[in-house]
Amino acid sequence: MQETLQITAREAVERLLAGNQKYIDAKCGIGDISKEIRQRTSQHGQAPYAIIVTCSDSRVIPENIFSAGIGELFVIRLAGNVIDDHQLGSIEYAAGHLGCRLILVMGHTHCGAVEAAMNGNPKNYIKFITDEIRLAIGDETDATKACELNVAHSIHIIEDSLEIHHIEEDSGLRVIGAIYDIESGEVRLL
Ligand SMILES: [Zn+2]
Repeated sequence: MQETLQITAREAVERLLAGNQKYIDAKCGIGDISKEIRQRTSQHGQAPYAIIVTCSDSRVIPENIFSAGIGELFVIRLAGNVIDDHQLGSIEYAAGHLGCRLILVMGHTHCGAVEAAMNGNPKNYIKFITDEIRLAIGDETDATKACELNVAHSIHIIEDSLEIHHIEEDSGLRVIGAIYDIESGEVRLL
């Protein structure tokens, strides 16, 4: 049996921000990772309330940032929070089959991928990521603005995906952006 959670995009945003508020002063993760929840979710399936698309940076831990535990967030991480077909497939799955109504694309301050796209000349596979970020940021020289442009670009790609668009029209799915401050711990919605 698959559990489904009836939570709107707006309620999901409120829950994320409330979780972030608790995290800012926490000393360790406070999400529920108990034996009971492992048992419950293994038997009844997952019903995450939000999809988080963010960077792989080790300082950005979505479950901690939103005080979330097992089964609460469907997280997609890739350096620079770039989006391609594999990420879109994951989003389609979580929105279409698990009932998530909110997609939060979250960049962060001091993002190495964005800085490399701005200043570096990376080679090999890293170039795939920085080329995508360059498409988003053009010749922007301000790191914060570049980060925001990169988030907006990923949102645009997600919204352009036809299947996601259908889900959006049918169900009130929303795609929003945010920047996570790796020093203060605060999530700022864009
Ligand atoms: Zn990053």
